[in-house]
Amino acid sequence: MSGHDAQQASATPAAAVPERLRITEIFHSIQGEADAIGWRTVFVRLTGCPLRCVWCDTEYSFHGGDWHGIDEILAEVASHGARHVCVTGGEPLAQKRCLILLQRLCDAGYEVSLETSGALDVSAVDPRVRKVMDLKAPGSGESARNLWSNLDHLLPHDQIKIVIASREDYEWSCAMLAEHRLADRCMVLFSPVWGKVEPRELAEWIIADRLPVRFQLQLHKLLWNDAAGR
Ligand code: SF4
Repeated sequence: MSGHDAQQASATPAAAVPERLRITEIFHSIQGEADAIGWRTVFVRLTGCPLRCVWCDTEYSFHGGDWHGIDEILAEVASHGARHVCVTGGEPLAQKRCLILLQRLCDAGYEVSLETSGALDVSAVDPRVRKVMDLKAPGSGESARNLWSNLDHLLPHDQIKIVIASREDYEWSCAMLAEHRLADRCMVLFSPVWGKVEPRELAEWIIADRLPVRFQLQLHKLLWNDAAGR
């Protein structure tokens, strides 16, 4: 085979293979948290996560799923007629092609958000995407995975979310808030772990300490008690 033929042989199959992602579910619901709370939203849940937070409520997304081409995903998203799209997981950035999906959704004119663990590099995420990035408190069991350099890639429209399972987690969160000047970077959300911290207790701590953070309850848990696909 000539060098030219060899180039063609390797280029053609690659061009013919559509960009695909492993997807656990695509569903239409109400955004239950963060800045876009309350908006009708299409959720694209990517399969897989390299973390194992002890209070994780989406363990069903760790394995399985089906391969979907990006065009196919866009068509399904469009069929629901919503302006907001949330790419979530699992940890969506664990699949490299997630970056392409995010870009394509932005190009199509959607308000796009990304829910990410904070453990994987967010620097290449399309700047039009609103990142909702976790910082893992010690009670998650995954605090060592926080990639602190990610803080430098947050934009003012992004959000930092800390899920709090105990008073110790709350105190850790207060320390991080001060040490990394989190509230100067973007909105900071404190959210109680369902069944671990009384929501009212967390609200009262925030008030007592006059914190520059936004308290949030997960609306979808109140509405649907956390059923999959909701
Ligand atoms: S990062 Fe998210 S999906 Fe992964 S284990 Fe933690 S809570 Fe679950």
